[in-house]
Amino acid sequence: MYNRRHSMSRVSLAKTHKRAKIAAHRLNEICGVLVREHKRLHLVPVKNVSPYMLSFIITRPCLKTAMAAANLNSNDIVGAYHSHPLSEPVPSEGDLKGARNRWLILIIPCYKGYKISLWYTCNGKCKKLHFSTIV
Ligand SMILES: [Zn+2]
Repeated sequence: MYNRRHSMSRVSLAKTHKRAKIAAHRLNEICGVLVREHKRLHLVPVKNVSPYMLSFIITRPCLKTAMAAANLNSNDIVGAYHSHPLSEPVPSEGDLKGARNRWLILIIPCYKGYKISLWYTCNGKCKKLHFSTIV
């Protein structure tokens, strides 16, 4: 996973970024999972059921619904994404605690000047990865 090349759809990223910025007006986060299909990572949006601002919760039923709608295989989930309405696109302590080991974390920042970033978790630590966008 760590050594693999990661690419995502430019259109999908732009749509996700737009949704994140709209949610950020109410200090809400958006979230979803990353699904690997061949060499591409798909962003599958999942309903955020957190009752609190600036947080996200992915429940099993919501994930199941989202995966069925996307027609993708749950076994191919390799990570998750969420937005940071205010903070920089770096995984928080909570993000790392909530992530699986050897897991990808994509963070969609909403604040001007910050760029979308991809991270890889390993034994409670994380490392920033490069990714490319494709049509
Ligand atoms: Zn976070």
